[in-house]
Amino acid sequence: METKVVIIDRSNMDTDALQKAADIIKNGGLVAFPTETVYGLGGNARDAMAAKKIYEAKGRPSDNPLIVHIADISALSVLAVDIPQSAYQLAEQFWPGPLTMILKKSDLVPKSTTGGLDTVAVRFPSDPIAKALIQTSGCYIAAPSANASGRPSTTCADHVLEDLNGRIEMILDGGPVQIGLESTIIDLTEKIPVILRPGYVTKQQLEDCIGKVLVDKGIMRTGKEEVFPAIAKAPGMKYRHYAPKGKLTVYEGEEAAVITCINQKIAEKMNSGALVGVIATEETRNSYIGGMVRSIGSRHDEEAIAAHLFQILREFDSLHAEYIFSESFSDNRLGHAIMNRLLKAAGYDIVEV
Ligand code: AMP
Ligand code: MG
Repeated sequence: METKVVIIDRSNMDTDALQKAADIIKNGGLVAFPTETVYGLGGNARDAMAAKKIYEAKGRPSDNPLIVHIADISALSVLAVDIPQSAYQLAEQFWPGPLTMILKKSDLVPKSTTGGLDTVAVRFPSDPIAKALIQTSGCYIAAPSANASGRPSTTCADHVLEDLNGRIEMILDGGPVQIGLESTIIDLTEKIPVILRPGYVTKQQLEDCIGKVLVDKGIMRTGKEEVFPAIAKAPGMKYRHYAPKGKLTVYEGEEAAVITCINQKIAEKMNSGALVGVIATEETRNSYIGGMVRSIGSRHDEEAIAAHLFQILREFDSLHAEYIFSESFSDNRLGHAIMNRLLKAAGYDIVEV
């Protein structure tokens, strides 16, 4: 199959291109499209065959459920049942936006879309292209991240093409995404809501809106937060994720000590002839003695760090980096999501300096 890439301008959307993409979705095909978080790989959420195609295109295990994208809050009561008041409060405050809610599914949603679960993940994205695609297709769009399973999520159309060329009908190219990390996932089927995946919407923001929320054990590393339950509940979180091809190690500690330690590792690996990548910051980019040094952004600009993480991991893949050494970042606010993705990419290989 030939994958068509169609450039689309948010401020002046080509209705013809949108209609073509919408027709593909309506007819059971797949279209990758930008959202404010990452690119999504979309198919008709009510079509069991479309879900099957999504799993195949990504090489994704079929017990890993898809997020259903909507363009109108009223769709919530079509896709879900027993909806708690907190869902409407969250929708009011954070939708359209980077928050996914887990609710009990209605009969309308096939189990092939939910990985066999009785619950459904729902999100109302804010990107105008995503919104227009959902509206034009008249479908609810099931869409996981538009990457090959196990690879970093895609933040621009070139990365989607790299992973899915020949496997999907179309890519709507809306340029680089705004946030660069996947949505926050909150499970509202428990008595006390549980964050299953950290993202742009933080625990504090959620608690300010609906009161106490817990953090799933699968996304913990510090033991600081209250934990629920004993195993990761978002099926996707148990799979190896975001992994670059090289061996990634994260160094944590006082800045000067981290730089010294990473420089020792750079010297050691380069002496043995290996290709080395370094994830540095604007503040530290000139402190390294060698290797392919990339700045992820200023240490004080979490939004920039989030936006560049997956891009840098992919760049090191294309440069065939065999070892990647990364500084670590603050674990607060958006930093929680950044460190969650970075540590997963590193297979939790973290060195305390
Ligand atoms: P992706 O869109 O590729 O980031 O994948 C969707 C994420 O949402 C995965 O981590 C899934 O495990 C999670 N997810 C989707 N539906 C559910 C659900 N019903 N219950 C728990 N987690 C879900
Ligand atoms: Mg994904």
